[in-house]
Amino acid sequence: MYVKSLLITGANRGIGLEFVKQFLKLPQSPQWVFAACRNPEKATDLKTLGETYPNLRIKQLEVTDRESIKDLVTSVTSDLGEEGLTLLINNAGCLKRLQLNDVTQEEMLESFQINSVAPLCISQAFVPVLKKSSLQSPGDGGYGYRAAIVNISTLTASITDNVTGGNYDSRTSKAALNMISKSLSVDLKPGRILVSILDPGWVKTELGGAGAKMEVSDSVARMIKVIQGLTMDKTGTFLNYDGKTLPW
Ligand code: NDP
Repeated sequence: MYVKSLLITGANRGIGLEFVKQFLKLPQSPQWVFAACRNPEKATDLKTLGETYPNLRIKQLEVTDRESIKDLVTSVTSDLGEEGLTLLINNAGCLKRLQLNDVTQEEMLESFQINSVAPLCISQAFVPVLKKSSLQSPGDGGYGYRAAIVNISTLTASITDNVTGGNYDSRTSKAALNMISKSLSVDLKPGRILVSILDPGWVKTELGGAGAKMEVSDSVARMIKVIQGLTMDKTGTFLNYDGKTLPW
């Protein structure tokens, strides 16, 4: 699918920043790339990219703040004018690696706020803007949809795959994200908006750590390939960076 406009959260570093870089460098790059981050002033990598790519717009977003989400919708809608949004990637996330002895109510709730509730609320807020896109485009190129939400999850959210236990924060909040994504896929299917859940693999970022298996450029290149090939029959599925279906 041609991504005419893209909004990505957590875009100032790690996987989010790499998505921005690679989408901007595509031969058919989006007309708008909205890179949302907590602190645009300090987003030096994004600002440097903005000097080369006029289609990059840096936006402020604290994903747990209702007003911040509202302001983002207003700002993105104003830039898009009559156009809708083609792709929303809910990428911002956290990992605290809480083991049984470390768990606190506060840290668990914070993880759920960032990893599960925020992507739901951001998706909810952007549904009208995505719908505009799904209604506007002349054809769907055989993909069966014209707008999409991609939620970045993790294989460690798979209940079937969990044989080592622990990591209560990430496993549970991302499993909730998977269920949220599944419901979104059902609710948004009539509006021809696809919803996909992607596991990036174990990636060398601040979150993944230096010992991770994959380079961030490799993970993101593979995920972009998966995103570009998604068809409506894949909506609501949990896929890895190579498009392989993962067990719930
Ligand atoms: P990083 O820690 O490198 O980046 C996390 C990003 O999320 C940062 O941009 C951070 O912003 C942003 N963020 C966190 N909390 C908030 C918030 N409250 N409001 C706004 N932005 C926020 O992580 P990765 O790039 O590795 O991870 C990206 C996604 O991939 C996450 O959802 C993660 O769970 C998932 N993932 C990553 C894996 C890996 O191995 N790296 C494995 C499996 C899944 P700030 O700089 O302001 O803190």
